[in-house]
Amino acid sequence: MPCGPTWSWRVAGDGDLEIGASQLLATSATEPIGMLMLTMRKAVRSLSRERGLALLAWAAACSLFWLTAANALAYDIVNRWSATQIDGGGLQRGDPVTLRWSIVPDGQSYSRSNNSELVEFLDAAWGVRPGPRRFDFTSRPWWTVIDNAYAQYSRVSGVLLDYVPELTLAGTSTGLFGDIRIGGEIIDGTPGGTLADNTFPNSGDMRIDTSRGGDGSIGSYFRTEAGLRNLVIHETGHGVGLGHTEFVNNSAKAVMEGGLRTDIWGLQFDDVYALNRQYGDPRERDGGNDNAITASFLGDFGTTGSSSIGVDATASA
Ligand SMILES: [Zn+2]
Repeated sequence: MPCGPTWSWRVAGDGDLEIGASQLLATSATEPIGMLMLTMRKAVRSLSRERGLALLAWAAACSLFWLTAANALAYDIVNRWSATQIDGGGLQRGDPVTLRWSIVPDGQSYSRSNNSELVEFLDAAWGVRPGPRRFDFTSRPWWTVIDNAYAQYSRVSGVLLDYVPELTLAGTSTGLFGDIRIGGEIIDGTPGGTLADNTFPNSGDMRIDTSRGGDGSIGSYFRTEAGLRNLVIHETGHGVGLGHTEFVNNSAKAVMEGGLRTDIWGLQFDDVYALNRQYGDPRERDGGNDNAITASFLGDFGTTGSSSIGVDATASA
């Protein structure tokens, strides 16, 4: 296979990045070269993982420049959801998903704990006193933080997170449970140690560490919006099949980096890139836009105009 100027690139309708050998780089003149190289590196990397050693060897030989260039971004895809409560089964790469999420009531067991105690923990962290609406978690300030965090997923990708309550207002079971259930228990007993962990699809349940300091204090990751928001977005990144991102020379930011960042608002470019590859962009919902007939209308523009999509990925909020 040749490399260099005989390669072209395109982003397929299902969010997959594809490269081909038969066309000239017709778009390169109008694309920022950095973005083009980034895209090609990413495509080579992604294809290498899936199509074996031969391509990997070719990629290593042909794209040494790309692979050794500074500022490489590197999302890590582990897997994705193939079946959900709402969508049913048979889901494949590029298909959007609707995932139900729920809060595990205290004292109940779920896949990650025999005795979840998250609600009391977050209530304490956010100054919520016991009251007559204690079974309605949607009234809690921490619930709003989580809900706002999850809304970002649907703004930038084909992942839609939909809350379902496990309890009625009277405290009885609704019979509903999330595809992703969020609970908590003491994981390591060390505040600031392991903050939370999460399983990969087709599970996705989250466990938040409820360890407190010796004086009963609760870490800032759980009682501030920036901390809790990014913690939940990060863990749910695992819950939809993403591993940890590693950057060369700390050259970029991502919520899927191994350490929790609080200086960014949730999903960043690399995170969104990974989500779009697995679940498509927000326009994948309602039948998708994988062919000319179902293509998304992006508005009118003249022969010298342009239309930008995905720009929110660089400054997510
Ligand atoms: Zn992680």
